[in-house]
Amino acid sequence: MAEHESLEYGKADFVLLDNVSTDEFMANLKLRFEKGRIYSYIGEVVVSVNPYRAMNIYGRDVVEQYKGRELYERPPHLFAIADAAYKAMKRRNKDTCIVISGESGAGKTEASKYIMQYIAAITNPNQRAEVERVKNMLLKSNCVLEAFGNAKTNRNDNSSRFGKYMDINFDFKGDPIGGHISNYLLEKSRVIFQQEGERSFHSYYQCVCVCVCVCVCSSINDGADFKAVADAMKVIGFTGDEIQTVYKILAAILHLGNLAFGVDGDVTLIQSTELVSVIRELLSAKEEHVEKALLYRTVSTGRDVIEKEHTAQEAGYGRDALAKAMYERMFCWIVGRINDIIEVKNYDARVHGKNTVIGVLDIYGFEIFQNNSFEQFCINYCNEKLQQLFIQLVLKQEQEEYQREGIPWKHIDYFNNQIIVDLVEQQHKGIFSVLDEACMNVGKVTDEVFLQGLNVKLAKHAHYTSRKLSPTDKTLEFDRDFRIRHYAGDVVYSVVGFIDKNKDTLFQDFKRLLYNSSNPVLKAMWPEGKLSITEVTKRPLTAATLFKTSMISLVENLACKEPYYVRCIKPNDVKSPLLFEQERCRHQVGYLGLLENVRVRRAGFAYRQTYPRFLQRYKMISEFTWPNHDLPSDTEAVKRLLQGCGFDHDVAYGKTKVFIRTPRTLFSLEEQRVDM
Ligand code: ATP
Ligand code: MG
Repeated sequence: MAEHESLEYGKADFVLLDNVSTDEFMANLKLRFEKGRIYSYIGEVVVSVNPYRAMNIYGRDVVEQYKGRELYERPPHLFAIADAAYKAMKRRNKDTCIVISGESGAGKTEASKYIMQYIAAITNPNQRAEVERVKNMLLKSNCVLEAFGNAKTNRNDNSSRFGKYMDINFDFKGDPIGGHISNYLLEKSRVIFQQEGERSFHSYYQCVCVCVCVCVCSSINDGADFKAVADAMKVIGFTGDEIQTVYKILAAILHLGNLAFGVDGDVTLIQSTELVSVIRELLSAKEEHVEKALLYRTVSTGRDVIEKEHTAQEAGYGRDALAKAMYERMFCWIVGRINDIIEVKNYDARVHGKNTVIGVLDIYGFEIFQNNSFEQFCINYCNEKLQQLFIQLVLKQEQEEYQREGIPWKHIDYFNNQIIVDLVEQQHKGIFSVLDEACMNVGKVTDEVFLQGLNVKLAKHAHYTSRKLSPTDKTLEFDRDFRIRHYAGDVVYSVVGFIDKNKDTLFQDFKRLLYNSSNPVLKAMWPEGKLSITEVTKRPLTAATLFKTSMISLVENLACKEPYYVRCIKPNDVKSPLLFEQERCRHQVGYLGLLENVRVRRAGFAYRQTYPRFLQRYKMISEFTWPNHDLPSDTEAVKRLLQGCGFDHDVAYGKTKVFIRTPRTLFSLEEQRVDM
């Protein structure tokens, strides 16, 4: 039986705490971390603390211990939650999802990989070749996506700079037959700028280190990774031309970074013309086209089409926008290619039954940096949305189940962050709307104008402030900062760059340049380059609108699945396997709402099981049920069994399930039973 409570290792499930207080919660979390018990439960939610060291708990032997078991039968583990999601999918034909949250460096991506590894390990017992192929692709795709979408930041040497949601599709036998990856907002500004101590995307250094060594990071082996990524791309099915094009684009972006502009009189010049030839060759473009796209832009005045020369500053802006756009487009194209290859093919639901899904969400955690910009704003909004979903689902699910089963329930209060979600996304009044309006203005649009708009619209909002609204607050700069009180804490955002990042303009001349490349792979990435300037009529959607739309659809998608949660905690900021920084952890436990989670769980019933399954597991405990019972129903048999053990007071009998209030009752049953 699992070690549920002991002096040595504390309580495996926080529901077992004697008193639900922050102090007790923290003491238990710390004790378990120090004893190498990095996983705990709150009912069915896994709480994970990043161990910052290799743990010998993910091997084949451990997989076997969790396969097909119930959550409470084994010590808390990611594998148990993966198995629970898998069982729900297989036994009850449910689409399920596993939502992994926590701040940067808390261990989300590692957790998502262990979960996928587990699912791969327990499926396809018959070794069907097609299923093996799909499994291999799904696992290999991680390595490619990390190379292009992750980077070293000051918080995490392998920080995901994009959000990822992966659906794994299963056939009626429960074997993976395909998948689909959705990616969210890549932090492309990293291509042109990194904070001190940070790097650009790994792919860069992998590409460069084959020739020269730059910006070495001790925990990263770029050379070996380069080979692994190139191999993975080959295995997934990228053609030689495609792989080569990807590296050519990377190289072109690198050279663009070295390209400088100067002025001679009032003429803008490219200072390093030899680079233009190199870039031309890498992009398979015409030399004069590259030069022209960098120095001029075509504008339509309504009647005429004219070529307007850039100032050196505009040319620099254009160059940076081009570098960012090429990288982002390439990243999305890579995801799209992987999707083409892994999508479910030849599956006829009429013949094979419903194809079910397990989704795994590994998205950027809440971020508070020294300087927070548009990207942090989007990321933190995303976390607000997910927190809202957690609140709704944890409460909703719980309440609905009691209702369905005819069991009374009393409400528990939560801090409801809907007010902050609204602050960001509401039509007309929300921050995104104010930003879009500011971007739509003709004439001089500045970041300050946007801030003024916020100050007018949000003057009375309890979660918004700025220096204008609270003049004595010296931590905020006039004309630059605003502060949001997020569920996870206060964040000051600088408006500098919001307008540009939201408009996300890439001159049509660049799109045409890339579309006209004689490299068909590159050309295919830029279909809209086909349009001439007079044909481009629609204003492209802003980055904020695109992000908001993608978040709303993500949440809708998650909400219709049965959710499982992994809440990751980062124990310290120095990547130490020994240090449990009390305050740091307390803060995370607070904003993740873990204590409220325990309370909800305790107010209700900790465990539930259908009558037949309950009997199957515990019938040997009672003479009334062993080896078989002659009572009119399984419900009656379970009642008789529990009365006999003296647990009648701690349980409720629903229509299809028996509910057990305290975990101790369950563990006592577990102790009395014997494996058959
Ligand atoms: P971000 O939001 O920045 O992407 P994250 O939550 O995805 O962060 P990870 O990249 O998963 O964080 O973890 C950061 C690092 O912590 C890993 O590179 C690894 O060194 C360590 N780590 C995380 N989980 C584990 C684990 N289960 N066992 C050992 N080390 C781990
Ligand atoms: Mg990550």
